[in-house]
Amino acid sequence: QRVGWAIVGLGRLSLEELLPAFAESRHSRLVALVSGDRAKAQTVARQYGVPEKNLYDYKSYDALKDNPDVQVVYIVLPNSMHAEYTIRGAQAGKHVFCEKPMANTVAECQQMIDACKKAGRKLAVAYRLQYEPHHRALIAMARNKELGTLKLLSADNGQHQGDPNHWRLKRALAGGGALPDVGIYCLSAARYLSGEEPVEVMGVSYSTPGDARFKEVDESFSFQLRFPSGFIANCTTGYSVHETRRMRLMGSDAYVEMDPAFAYQGLRMKIGRKSQASGKAEDAIERSYPQKSQFAREMDHFSQCVKEDKAPHTPGEEGLADMRVIEALYRSAREGKPVKLEAQKKLDAFR
Ligand code: NAD
Repeated sequence: QRVGWAIVGLGRLSLEELLPAFAESRHSRLVALVSGDRAKAQTVARQYGVPEKNLYDYKSYDALKDNPDVQVVYIVLPNSMHAEYTIRGAQAGKHVFCEKPMANTVAECQQMIDACKKAGRKLAVAYRLQYEPHHRALIAMARNKELGTLKLLSADNGQHQGDPNHWRLKRALAGGGALPDVGIYCLSAARYLSGEEPVEVMGVSYSTPGDARFKEVDESFSFQLRFPSGFIANCTTGYSVHETRRMRLMGSDAYVEMDPAFAYQGLRMKIGRKSQASGKAEDAIERSYPQKSQFAREMDHFSQCVKEDKAPHTPGEEGLADMRVIEALYRSAREGKPVKLEAQKKLDAFR
C-alpha cells in the first residue's frame, strides 16, 4: 500500500518536479492538493487524477485531519510559510515533509520540531541530495577515509534571480537571499561530508547599490566554515551569476570533484588520486551512478519511514542545524568578523 501525499503549494517546484516524480516513485502516491488558486488546482487535479474532494485551500487545510487518504503533507510554499503549515499539518495528524530552508529562524525550526513531536508525527526536510547516489557514495568515501584525511571543501552554488518582485527577494518571505536558498547546499554538504558541526564561521555579503532586486536580501555571499577536526569549507553563492553548481572535496590522498554537484540531474563526479607506487597524481577517473529522480527518492524514503515507523535521514534537527549556521553567517557578515559557535553533538542520522 502506497503512502498518500498532499502537495501544499502549486508553484514551480511542485508543478515541474514533484508532481511528475510520483510517476517514478514506488511507495508514494499523490492523493491531495492544497492551493490558493482553485482553477489551477482543478487543472492539476485532472492531469494527475486527484479527486475533487481532495482539493484544499489555505483555510480548509486543517480539514485534512478528517481525510484518511492523506498521511503526509509536503510543504512547498515560500520559506516564511513553512513553520505555520508544518505545525498546522502536524496538528491535523499528518507527517510532514518540508522544503528547504526549513524556516527563516532557528526559533521557528524548534517550534516545528516540537509541534511534530507533540503530535507524534514524523518531520523531515527535503534535502534531496542526501538521497542522491553520487552524494551518498561521496559520504561513504569520506567516512571510509578513501580520500585520506579530509582537509578542504570548495563549493559554489549560484544562479540568476531576475524578477525584483519575486518572494525570493523579499526578506519577510525568503528570510535572506542566495544564502538560505541556494548557498544552503554548500553549507549542508560541508556538514554531511565532514560529519561535523562548524565551530567558527565567517561570512561576507554584497548587494549592488541601486539594484532593485537586492534592496532587502543579499546578492552575493561568500563564507568559510571551520570544523573541530580542522576541516575547512570555502563556499560562494549568488543571485547574479550564471548557473554554477560545483564542488571539490579535498583529502590528503585524493580529491573528488563534482560539476554539476547540486543540480536536479546530470551530476558528474571525478576522482583524482595519488599513486600508491610513486606518490604522484594519477589521471582523474569519472564515476557515475544511476540518476533516478531525486524527488522520487526522497519522497519514497519518507514514505518508507512512515510505513515502517523509522526515523528519516534528514529530520527537522538537520534543518535546524543549517539554520543555526545561517544565522551565525548573517551575524558575521553584519559585524564584519568571524563568529564562534558552541560545539555540538554529531547528527549522525544516516551518515
Ligand atoms: P514558487 O514561487 O514557484 O511557488 C510558491 C508557491 O507558493 C506558489 O504556488 C504561490 O502561489 C504560493 N504562495 C502562497 N502564498 C504565497 C505568498 N504569500 N507569496 C508568494 N507565493 C505564495 O516557489 P518554488 O520555487 O516552488 O519554491 C517553493 C519552496 O520550495 C521554497 O521553500 C523553495 O526554497 C523550495 N525549493 C526547493 C528546491 C529543491 O531543489 N529542493 C527547488 C526549488 C524550490
